[in-house]
Amino acid sequence: MTEIINETPDKIKKTANAIKKLRPAYSKILDFYEKIFTAQEKSAAKTEIKPAQLSDDILSIKTKEKFPLVSLSEFPVDVNSSRKLFKKICKIINKSENHMSSAAEVIFAANENKKIDFNELYTALLHDNDVSFGNIAAELKTDKDVLAFITYNSMRPSLSMFAESLSKYIDKDNPWEKGYCPVCGNAPVISTFESDGKRFLTCSFCWHKWPATRLFCPFCENRDSGTLHYLFSEDEQEYRIDVCDRCNKYIRNVDTRILSRFVYLPLEQIATFHLDIMAKEKGFESGVPLEFQV
Ligand SMILES: [Zn+2]
Ligand SMILES: [Zn+2]
Repeated sequence: MTEIINETPDKIKKTANAIKKLRPAYSKILDFYEKIFTAQEKSAAKTEIKPAQLSDDILSIKTKEKFPLVSLSEFPVDVNSSRKLFKKICKIINKSENHMSSAAEVIFAANENKKIDFNELYTALLHDNDVSFGNIAAELKTDKDVLAFITYNSMRPSLSMFAESLSKYIDKDNPWEKGYCPVCGNAPVISTFESDGKRFLTCSFCWHKWPATRLFCPFCENRDSGTLHYLFSEDEQEYRIDVCDRCNKYIRNVDTRILSRFVYLPLEQIATFHLDIMAKEKGFESGVPLEFQV
């Protein structure tokens, strides 16, 4: 039997090392996220999700109305693999000794004592039920934001896998003319330029990547060249910040054609905080929903 070797963890390590060399200030945070992303990739290899099936009727309505294919509550989670990843992420946070460590310790202990009902936890997050999620955090006597961070990151392999199974229903050749993710309806987290100068946006929730028009603000769907521009630094030709004067929002953009390293977008997102600072200093706001800003 041939064993399938997942090369991504190794590539993540190499990419993180390359970025750390260029920008040593990111070393600590990259060390942390490299561990989280590696754990997610390893968990993905053991995650099983039934591929999505949409009927022709549903698909034709969604396509015609430009609705996202599914709502968040329709995302399935492989609870078996996600709860193992949940435990692993708690351990990574504890070892990293960062601002989440003490809360993660409480959560880890609660899990060891079988006090966490994972079905309830995942359902609360996917149904965006803030009250119910807050109650779970209160019962566990822990910080709600840290619990949300661990919960979301532990189900991310399931989310990406389900989104991937839906991508067959999406037109990959033409730009999607809406600002939200065609799979789940969330805002994009990052923009990329890829071969032939084509632009893509990547979802902040399910990490689906879709083709987008180059001159386009995903937050207000502005297409006017007079009010769309970008900020950049001479030292970093691979990055720029697309800004919109109409809604005052920005999105970070990575020109993957310039990068010789393996591009792993979650890492690029982490390693571009300085662009956020630059944009905010100029008076722009992030278009990424607060809960997905790391
Ligand atoms: Zn999405
Ligand atoms: Zn805008």
